[in-house]
Amino acid sequence: MSDAPQQEIPKTHVSPLQFVKGVGPKRAEALAQAGILTPRDLLMYIPRSYIDRSSIGNIRTLHRRMLNPDVFDKESRETIEALRSEITIVGAFTKIREHQFGKGRKMLIATFSDGSGADANVIFFNFIEYFRRVVKQEEVFAVSGKPDLDKFGKVTFTHPDIERIDPEDEELYKAGKIIPKYTLTQPMKNANIGMRGFRNLVELVIDQEKPNINEVLPASVLHEYNFPNRSEAIEALHFPESAEHLRSAKNRMKFEELFFFELLLALRQQGVKVRDKAPVIPPPSPTARKLMDALPFELTQAQKRVINEIVADMKTDKPMNRLLQGDVGSGKTIVALLTMLMSADNGFQSLLLAPTEILAEQHYQNIKKLLGDMDVNVVQVVGGQKKRARNAVLDEIGSGRAQIIIGTHALFGGSSKKDVENLWLQYNKVGLIVIDEQHRFGVMQRAKLRELGVRSHESQTPLAPHVLVMSATPIPRTLSMTLYGDLDVSVINELPKNRKPIITKVVFESGLQKQYDFIRSEIQKGRQAYIVYPLVEESEKLELKAATLALEELQHEVFPEFKLGLLHGQMLWYEKEDAMKAFLNKEYQILVATTVVEVGIDVPNASVMLIQNAERFGLAQLHQLRGRVGRGSEQSYCLLATKDHFAFHMKKKEAEQQEKLSAIIRLRTMEETTDGFKIAEVDLRLRGPGDVMGTRQSGVPDFTFADLVNDELAIEQAKKAAFGIVASDPHLRKPEHTATRTEFLRQYKSDQNFFDVA
Ligand code: ADP
Ligand code: MG
Repeated sequence: MSDAPQQEIPKTHVSPLQFVKGVGPKRAEALAQAGILTPRDLLMYIPRSYIDRSSIGNIRTLHRRMLNPDVFDKESRETIEALRSEITIVGAFTKIREHQFGKGRKMLIATFSDGSGADANVIFFNFIEYFRRVVKQEEVFAVSGKPDLDKFGKVTFTHPDIERIDPEDEELYKAGKIIPKYTLTQPMKNANIGMRGFRNLVELVIDQEKPNINEVLPASVLHEYNFPNRSEAIEALHFPESAEHLRSAKNRMKFEELFFFELLLALRQQGVKVRDKAPVIPPPSPTARKLMDALPFELTQAQKRVINEIVADMKTDKPMNRLLQGDVGSGKTIVALLTMLMSADNGFQSLLLAPTEILAEQHYQNIKKLLGDMDVNVVQVVGGQKKRARNAVLDEIGSGRAQIIIGTHALFGGSSKKDVENLWLQYNKVGLIVIDEQHRFGVMQRAKLRELGVRSHESQTPLAPHVLVMSATPIPRTLSMTLYGDLDVSVINELPKNRKPIITKVVFESGLQKQYDFIRSEIQKGRQAYIVYPLVEESEKLELKAATLALEELQHEVFPEFKLGLLHGQMLWYEKEDAMKAFLNKEYQILVATTVVEVGIDVPNASVMLIQNAERFGLAQLHQLRGRVGRGSEQSYCLLATKDHFAFHMKKKEAEQQEKLSAIIRLRTMEETTDGFKIAEVDLRLRGPGDVMGTRQSGVPDFTFADLVNDELAIEQAKKAAFGIVASDPHLRKPEHTATRTEFLRQYKSDQNFFDVA
């Protein structure tokens, strides 16, 4: 491109940090390996924790909380947090001894006291000689790790991180100073970067860089929340003057992180809304009114509120994009039906998409029943329909006579190549799409269905249908606000009054005979039961074998007088549906099943569920499973079978121990509540958002400061701020948003889904 003499190629591998005093190439290389290449990287290498007099753990309270993980009080929430995170305790070793175990193996057990009135054990299995030398009785240490309880109920740290607090720091610490602790990698240690050295380096770089740290939040936001500015906050993260100083710095950084993510969501949502116009569907709807008057029950307050939210959306020409959350049995179907009737009264078709044929069938039957002899044209598109029946249905749909169209994937126009080529499915003015059981359908499918809807309008400006997504998987608000940032959320948080809460009990394996007798007595009263087994192995063959074996044993040795059916994941979909239908028709009294029964059909007559090895199931799964009973008017029961003395049986390995404690919390939670949102919250606390929702796939970044479990308020504030700014300045072009825009593009430029900012 130019004739200029070739310049020297810059050595991009040279870290600028190398020139910081006391660093040099070797240490710079060690830092680079941890991703710290620039001063900026170093400043964003946030302390892992802090040694802080006011907020560190205290052995006595820790002990009390761990012994009694009562899942719903605030303290034990902290316990659950503690299971997932690190706790630092400052104190001294008071007793150190060696213990022989197994074949000539040794462990080092040290007693650690912090003056709180209780001691902890610190155990080392490896590097015993090394620790023997390091762990000195007269010195002060910070012990950081994940605590356990040993079999005597004593707080125990196994191979924690221990740091001697040198006398100088000890002074600071005693004076109430907060000392940052950084994660030091092995290469750093090899390059002789110790905790103290690292701290000094950060201190040096902060002094240098502080003037270069630009503010990225709009001034109005800083002002509204009284946040420290960015450079101040970053300094405080490393060297806070007080706990309060640290807290406000963290809050600011947390807000910043969430704010830019919410900005992305706001810009995306704006993209959708600006592009498409939706059919205007205003109230009142005589048909919906008529149905409400004819219902044998009154709608719950929650149902009414949600209907109002939907009405408010549909009467505008902006496409509704709403998530309707409600526990199993909370009455989502009737809400969807009323919504579809509104659409019908305005001359628009509605699609109702169900995840399985049998659920589609059940919706169809339910809706026909609810409508009685009302004049509404409801059709069903199913996979195995006879050609003639199907053609008749297609004619209803294409001509616009069909008002409510229920089906599965078939609603997409079929998945086989031929189907797609023939484009046999022609909708006529789709005004509304309802998607049941959200998690089975991805964002892409939502978009595709919407597109089919758009094409169904012949007008010059194609109309985008309103979309209502229904989910029975409760998602804590903090998560739905972020994960479904492009959806508005409505929640039915109330069950119809006539429901009897399911009685849930943890039962032990030695008492199973008694539980079987209980099931027998329920069946003799005319009811039915589920017996659920966990997937024993990943292997398909083994699953099949385990399920078959369980069935045979139950059939021959426990319930010879009853008929038992089988349902497992290796069955073809129609075999599964046949098995469930047979159960619904009372051909079996007991359905032996693996977790596939989770998304099932309503069998109101089934009143007992026994879940074997319940400790192996996740909370969300247990809750979904339990939702299969309690759907009729009878009192229902959920029995969670687990090993005898499960709660008291402690194992040695840390991982197992933690799994055990969280299993106890899971089972207790199930006993204590049937509220899906509470359950989801505990689940989130136990597992973290990444595991619960697969946040990585869902596009939520790994936040450094924000915590999707606890930061509800911050998420709400960030959302409000970000959406407000986008509403007033849709392209972030105002001068006061320049820095914000630059930072946004730095973070999210690769994201193609936002609208017209780049
Ligand atoms: P879900 O939210 O799990 O889809 P459904 O819509 O299937 O729940 O409702 C479960 C049952 O409760 C249905 O039989 C329905 O007719 C009934 N139902 C819905 N709303 C009410 C109400 N407000 N009062 C009493 N029963 C109701
Ligand atoms: Mg439902």
